[in-house]
Amino acid sequence: MPTAQRLPKLVELVAKKYEVDGKKGELTDIRDPFLLGTWMILGEHAKKNGQIRAHEALRRAKGITPGQLLDILPEKLNSVCQQAGPYEDARSKKLYQYADDIEDKCGKEFGKLFIKPIPEARTFLEIDLRLGRPFADFLLMYTGAPVFALDGKILRVASRLGYTKIKPEKDFDKAYKDVQKTFEAESPKKDNDFLLRAHGLLHRLGTDVCTAVLPHCPHCPLLKECPYPKKHPEVFEAQAAADAAKAERAARYASPPQLPPKVAK
Ligand code: SF4
Repeated sequence: MPTAQRLPKLVELVAKKYEVDGKKGELTDIRDPFLLGTWMILGEHAKKNGQIRAHEALRRAKGITPGQLLDILPEKLNSVCQQAGPYEDARSKKLYQYADDIEDKCGKEFGKLFIKPIPEARTFLEIDLRLGRPFADFLLMYTGAPVFALDGKILRVASRLGYTKIKPEKDFDKAYKDVQKTFEAESPKKDNDFLLRAHGLLHRLGTDVCTAVLPHCPHCPLLKECPYPKKHPEVFEAQAAADAAKAERAARYASPPQLPPKVAK
């Protein structure tokens, strides 16, 4: 059952895994609202480090304002999007649409949206710019609003930790709002850095530990705090089998192939 102090404690536990060697918990140091959106789009289904590479390529192509991005030729934008990973056509279409909607609905006034009251800004992002709630909340949170943005991965972690009884796969929107309300209540007030850290750390955990199909509970920093492995003890056996298969594959590739002994003539 969530308690007032639970989220900060969980965040500190996850931080021990990811905030090492000077790495920060937050996902990006970008704060410009337009570029936060391009960052999000390039990160959807991106391969490892693909999001960073593609976003750098977009900057080099001078696509840092909506007008500039719309001036990039389709072949060039496709090659930028390719650096993120597959689905480059879908990504570049979404980038054009995002830039075009901003140009069409608010142009240079886009930045001013983020000083408006949260409900007003969120409605504009969701309705006028056709961005989903997680996308809209990400822009709001990274530009300083006291909003805890979630995504599918964070929601999965939260659900397994017992933060909602609503199954995200059955009703994503309801589960999202339920978890968001509790996360915001458990977050220190007026501490945007905490929100960015918590969001980034739980996103990373949902990417490589609390995976959709077989969560890596035995290797999770939240193992002792999480009710999921107690309810699903089969994950330990399944994970041990997966680890053993992985070790066997690694050993097979590491050792030289065995040649048949030479037959004396
Ligand atoms: S213990 Fe397992 S289910 Fe719980 S957060 Fe960690 S990986 Fe996810």
